[in-house]
Amino acid sequence: MTYEEMLAEVSALGEKPYRAKQLFAWVYKRGVDDIGAMTDVSLALRERMRDIYGIRGIRLIDAKTAPDGTRKFLSELEDGNRIESVLIPETARLTLCVSTQAGCALGCRFCMTGAGGFMRNLRLSEMTGQVFAAGTPLAEGERITNVVLMGMGEPLANYDNVIRFTGILTDGNGFGFSHNKVTVSTAGLVPAIKRFGEESNCALAVSLNATTDEVRDRIMPINKKYPIKGLIAALRAYPHAGKKHVTIEYVVLRDVNDSAEDARRLAFLLRSIPCKVNLIPFNEFQGAAFKSPDNQRVSAMSRILQDAGYTVIVRSSKGLEIQAACGQLRGWREE
Ligand code: SAH
Ligand code: SF4
Repeated sequence: MTYEEMLAEVSALGEKPYRAKQLFAWVYKRGVDDIGAMTDVSLALRERMRDIYGIRGIRLIDAKTAPDGTRKFLSELEDGNRIESVLIPETARLTLCVSTQAGCALGCRFCMTGAGGFMRNLRLSEMTGQVFAAGTPLAEGERITNVVLMGMGEPLANYDNVIRFTGILTDGNGFGFSHNKVTVSTAGLVPAIKRFGEESNCALAVSLNATTDEVRDRIMPINKKYPIKGLIAALRAYPHAGKKHVTIEYVVLRDVNDSAEDARRLAFLLRSIPCKVNLIPFNEFQGAAFKSPDNQRVSAMSRILQDAGYTVIVRSSKGLEIQAACGQLRGWREE
């Protein structure tokens, strides 16, 4: 439940509103999963609540650590579906990558999650559960600093639960992240992007991945529904004034979208949109129809974009050895 939902429950029980704040903090800030342990709530109320409510999470069933320190978590849901979360250590950051769906319906050709098909949307408790599952084994002094909704699934296709989840992530009595430390990544669901801009202050990342409809149609079937022109228009109309951060993600596929021409088209497409560009060299997986690009090609693209005034980050492939890098998550199913 969100804070607002707890508030409604609490008042239905005839309790004062401050109770909701207490309960919310017990669950999300302190991570207590036993109503009986909520000691500032009267025993009678705790017992009553135990009859009505339960605190749910996910069941962590396996974890792996890559040589570079990236950790991948496999969890099983109540219905047997399996999802993955990834914890990525960097110099001054520890980023948790959260899944929002079991599988994904969008079927991008370069993505292993897409290749596995769609099972269902994750519940709120299955998203908050990933934060607990990854955060619990952390060493003394280690703390998750950033959360990215870039794991399995298309976050904006699970819109309501994602908004509930990001609300808890950014609530001071919840997980307490600031809005710019929480990033939601979308393959480009145009109407949902507009809504997200109105309803959330969290950062947005958009997987553009191509500069022509011809190529984008081929690698991202969703482009047929929401072609590049409308997507760019939505980004141009995005409320940047309130310092909303937009990241453009671009998976670089060898000989598909890695030319100097692509970089110049990208620079032109993005003109006057305040954004930074993440170039993500394609991570290969078994059976993939694409190849990783040449480093030189990626550097050349980066230079062209930088010369055009963009901030460019070439995203390094963390956790490749344990299949934890972008696009490699599918729930351990074939390992
Ligand atoms: N569904 C959302 C978020 C999850 S995918 C989205 O598509 O944005 C997160 C990122 O991984 C996306 O930018 C996607 O383009 C990228 N990605 C998918 N497969 C990849 C692969 N094999 N190698 C590199 N990046 C990949
Ligand atoms: Fe789904 Fe994102 Fe993978 Fe595309 S890249 S199939 S939208 S998870």
